[in-house]
Amino acid sequence: MTILVTGASRGIGREIAKNLAQKGNIVIANYNKSEEQAQNLQKENANIEIYKADVSKREEVKQMVEYVLKKYGKIDVLVNNAGISENKLFTDVTDEDWQKIINTNLYSAFCVTQEVLPNMIHNKFGCIINISSIWGMVGASCETVYSIAKAGIDAMTKSLAKELGPSNIRVNSIAPGIIDTDMNKNLTQEDIENIKNEIPLQKVGKTIDIAKCVEWLINDQYTTGQIISINGGWVII
Ligand code: NAP
Repeated sequence: MTILVTGASRGIGREIAKNLAQKGNIVIANYNKSEEQAQNLQKENANIEIYKADVSKREEVKQMVEYVLKKYGKIDVLVNNAGISENKLFTDVTDEDWQKIINTNLYSAFCVTQEVLPNMIHNKFGCIINISSIWGMVGASCETVYSIAKAGIDAMTKSLAKELGPSNIRVNSIAPGIIDTDMNKNLTQEDIENIKNEIPLQKVGKTIDIAKCVEWLINDQYTTGQIISINGGWVII
């Protein structure tokens, strides 16, 4: 299959790309700023091609999707993974913060999906996986805008699953809890221990935990419109 993964230079997206490439798929690994990490990813994996684009910008997304379709003819699977987070009191959030967080986490998923969909609809086949977060489900103190963006992604997942089911396109979200990546590097060891104590499985998740679920969702044929939360039991609803 031909698979486009956004934000694949580091963390969860990188693991998703590696795992799917190892299983024999062609993976286009999008990145923005981490050029060196992206190049290493390509060097280490024969089935991975990297592509630089800021997915919060329509023109760059358009060019990326056009490039992939010209070269490979189709996109079977889209993983909307690129994201950023920011910790701030709600009263301190600026309009610039709002725009950056919403555009990178939510508008990007809207935009990439819109550019990819005509090809999937034409093929009557597609699988879209959006990486959201538990915070979109239950809200996070000092991460209101991030939580809004992730809740928006989950709403998009549910709506699109209904709209695209007749075209044989499945749309699901994976909502991780805490996963060991750069996104959490601001946390102290003490913060991590406190979080682990709140998690029934008493541990932080690994990127492969998310990558395995992505692989499962691609192979499955009857799951759509679902928010699958991989969180060690931290959030159970
Ligand atoms: P990460 O390690 O910080 O990696 C983020 C990735 O997103 C990087 O590859 C980065 O690429 C890419 N990215 C950021 N802005 C981009 C843009 N404008 N255009 C293209 N790529 C962009 O974060 P992560 O933990 O792997 O997070 C991946 C996803 O999982 C995010 O959506 C995040 O919200 C979600 N998530 C993570 C956790 C967690 O605990 N880690 C929990 C819940 C949800 P460059 O460096 O090349 O710019």
